[in-house]
Amino acid sequence: MTTTDFETARFATISGALVAVMLLALSANTLRAQGQPPPDHPAVTVRGQTYTPRSILARNMGTDEDQTTAFPPHKIIGNIYYVGTRTLTSFLIVTPQGNIIVNSTYERNVPVIQKSVEQLGFKFSDTKILLGNHAHGDHQEGDALVKQLTGAQVMAMAEDVPALQAIKPGGKAHPIDKILHDKEAVTLGGTTLVAHLTPGHTRGCTTWTTAVQEGGKTYNVVFSCSLRAPAPLTPAIVDEMNRSFKLVRTLPCDVQVGDHPAQYNMHEKYAKLKNGGPNPFIDPANCNLEADIQEAMFKAVLAEQPPAARH
Ligand SMILES: [Zn+2]
Repeated sequence: MTTTDFETARFATISGALVAVMLLALSANTLRAQGQPPPDHPAVTVRGQTYTPRSILARNMGTDEDQTTAFPPHKIIGNIYYVGTRTLTSFLIVTPQGNIIVNSTYERNVPVIQKSVEQLGFKFSDTKILLGNHAHGDHQEGDALVKQLTGAQVMAMAEDVPALQAIKPGGKAHPIDKILHDKEAVTLGGTTLVAHLTPGHTRGCTTWTTAVQEGGKTYNVVFSCSLRAPAPLTPAIVDEMNRSFKLVRTLPCDVQVGDHPAQYNMHEKYAKLKNGGPNPFIDPANCNLEADIQEAMFKAVLAEQPPAARH
């Protein structure tokens, strides 16, 4: 066993232990944010790994400390960087005309994100546009503070606007400078991001796509919105989820990231990044892994529902 293998094995063991601990101790914040802990059934197995609604939430959120502790900021690919915490993603997209941030996360994390941006050698004050994946506090509560500190224009999918307006940390109104619609493009300094409406988790859940250059090649990058179906399932949500599962599989993808690091195995990929070799974030084979997991869970949950909801 080489040192690298040993490190990987040790990492896998530690990761397994961490998940086990998380399952036992869903954080107080998570419960406050999401209501009661989800049930421990049904269980689905996708590519050899078993998931329950509770294990998925635990995997996504981690502990209070995970939600607020910076993960080492790093380059993902091209002009895209990671500036989020251990369990809440935030992405920095750097252009010659200023930068874009996707996901402010909790308001208390804004200084954490700012520090990560600066650690990478960029200026937080260069943030010109603030986007988000979806209108839940763990992803977009910090929007007002980011705008206050940087003057960034906050843009949001129309269907998420009512939910965003209800996020008012300390009574601050949620800023929305531009309302976007499905397939609308946002362009800054030669980078274009396209907003795809992928509703279900929230009404305006937004999957962002862009293309980047690296080593003379072009790569398609997908910033996935959560595909975790809310409970209880209504016929309208069932329709939305079904459409979204279909749509995300049509998006060209070489690099997939998500609103939580667990949705693209960031921790494992980052460990590989440190070992050198090809960019581990270029992983087209796993672009739909999270969709596979969530769709299997969605179908299993639906099968447990009374027939009226199945639609
Ligand atoms: Zn959410």
